[in-house]
Amino acid sequence: TQARPNAPSATLENDRRHLLRSWSALDGPAPLVVGAGEGAWFRDESGRRWLDFSSQLVNANVGHQHPKLIAAIKAQADTLCTIAPYHANAATSEAARLIAEVAPGDLNRVFFTNGGAEAIENAIRIARLYTGRHKILSSYRSYHGATTGAITATGDPRRWGSEPGAPGFVKFWGPYPYRSAFHAVDEAQECERALAHLADTIRVEGASSIAAILLETVVGANGILVPPDGYLQGVRALCDAHGIVLIADEVMAGFGRCGEWFAIDRWSVMPDLITFAKGVNSGYVPLGGVIMREAIGERFRTQAYPGGLTYSGHPLACAAAVACIGIYRDETLIPRARRLGEEIIGPALRAMQARHPAVGDVRGLGLFWAIELVRNRASREPLVPFNATGADAEPMGAFAAACKQRGLWPFVAANRLHVVPPLVIDEQALRDGLAIIDEALHVADGYCFD
Ligand code: PLP
Repeated sequence: TQARPNAPSATLENDRRHLLRSWSALDGPAPLVVGAGEGAWFRDESGRRWLDFSSQLVNANVGHQHPKLIAAIKAQADTLCTIAPYHANAATSEAARLIAEVAPGDLNRVFFTNGGAEAIENAIRIARLYTGRHKILSSYRSYHGATTGAITATGDPRRWGSEPGAPGFVKFWGPYPYRSAFHAVDEAQECERALAHLADTIRVEGASSIAAILLETVVGANGILVPPDGYLQGVRALCDAHGIVLIADEVMAGFGRCGEWFAIDRWSVMPDLITFAKGVNSGYVPLGGVIMREAIGERFRTQAYPGGLTYSGHPLACAAAVACIGIYRDETLIPRARRLGEEIIGPALRAMQARHPAVGDVRGLGLFWAIELVRNRASREPLVPFNATGADAEPMGAFAAACKQRGLWPFVAANRLHVVPPLVIDEQALRDGLAIIDEALHVADGYCFD
């Protein structure tokens, strides 16, 4: 019999023969072949069910195959699948209106992109045009995407393969109390010293050359670093004092993940630009964008914006955004995320920290948490070295394998497990997943020494 093009056996074969996948070597581990999804679960080709504690790349906020989101995409497909961005259409303008409605303050105008990296590129362009300056300051502990500007702004080692990158980018250290770059003894001191360091960086770079400070409101892929109270207010004050545009990268932290529409709402700070993607429509169709304050939008009142994309405001993606924002509201998923973080995840992870020597630090909010694994709690030596590969990375591989053996799909980065399930996860599944992590931590404990 002839194999169907997508029969399970052919899927992996074609993948191995013809695909170059993100951040992967051709001879790297074989991918899991996924066939179906439902809510906080997905199934592989063998029919095995996985509890998704990753939301894939922290994007599937309303979970897999949400019926209302699927219906909205189907309805839009029946009406208008594609249209050039120089036309107006109902889905795109309604998505822009809703995004402006949930965005803070007077961030009322949206430029749509296909994803997060393009959102960063356009935010950088807008900040440069608005200020007439060129430098972009960003943090070492950051990820902003893989296009030239976004990867140059990125701090983590994924930047290395694209160096030397674009000119005009400068890095600084943000707050990270557990591994303080400032030898701070508590959060308040970390906040104060991180702000003094940023002020120094601005001084020596020359404020009049700095267009923007770009930061993840809550740092995502680099460790779920929740800023100490006062830090974002302090960055806002520095931007105000020097005429610098503040870009809040909310690609991962925004749209409910942190128990707020945007993570920055928690500190009542108003950025000048917000970049978003992922949770805006849970990734059912690629979409991202930049939300800007009124005054920045006005910069383009008579002068055309010198940037564009064939698929800016794609109707299928925008119809999915309209439906997704409706789901967040109708199912009250955002306050629920805040509550699940405070009442279930935080307490459970802290209890694990008390039981397992490998758990060095626990931090997070909403459905955005990390546990940082160490070999020794006193020295805080990470379970794996910085940017570990091969045998050096084995302890984290073994820990992830222990999660997978028990049916949990984990999000593992460096020496951390990120706990980032879909916002729709039911409480029992959340508790079950946390119990699996608790069991798997015995594997990590095995690498600890006194
Ligand atoms: N910014 C942040 C904070 C991200 O986490 C990501 C992706 O993970 C990006 C930007 C890049 O988004 P994309 O992969 O959609 O280009």
